[in-house]
Amino acid sequence: PKPVVAIVGRPNVGKSTLFNRIVGGRVAIVEDQPGVTRDRLYQTAEWAGRTFTLVDTGGLDLAEAGDIPGRVRRQVALAIDEADAVLFLVDGRTGLTPTDQEVAALLRRTRKPVLLVVNKIENFQRAGEWTEFYRLGLGEPIPVSAAQGMNTGDLLDRLVAVL
Ligand code: GDP
Ligand code: MG
Repeated sequence: PKPVVAIVGRPNVGKSTLFNRIVGGRVAIVEDQPGVTRDRLYQTAEWAGRTFTLVDTGGLDLAEAGDIPGRVRRQVALAIDEADAVLFLVDGRTGLTPTDQEVAALLRRTRKPVLLVVNKIENFQRAGEWTEFYRLGLGEPIPVSAAQGMNTGDLLDRLVAVL
């Protein structure tokens, strides 16, 4: 069976944009309105000869009740349960938030591989935008721009190395 990789993170950090970037087509719909994802959530992706199933967990929000931190927590618990590896996406423009801290606390408890990915980094000179995420205790933050495709190849190299 193909390994399952889940993208988790707060609404609006760019989960669907990264999902589309990795699967190579506009599959999930990206919305400016936080937390909105329609269409398909599961897609097969391939990198460096490795095939895996990628899950955009944000879309699961729609069927769920409750506030955003609560929904994000459930989404993360589900991902830890069902995925073989987790991409934890945070927003380098917004910076570290309390919800990111909560999610990190949950992810630090799993033995499954977790990659900490800082999205919306279009200028790699501004290291402060992603190095602050070291504080989450999940290892080295990987800066990417899902929208521009910057550094996403490096992210995928690291991902397939842990699958
Ligand atoms: P989701 O709610 O986590 O699925 O986030 P979306 O993928 O829907 O993106 C939310 C917003 O962030 C949209 O307005 C995107 O265009 C924007 N966005 C996503 N990735 C990037 C990026 O790499 N750079 C910038 N500047 N904006 C991005
Ligand atoms: Mg989405």
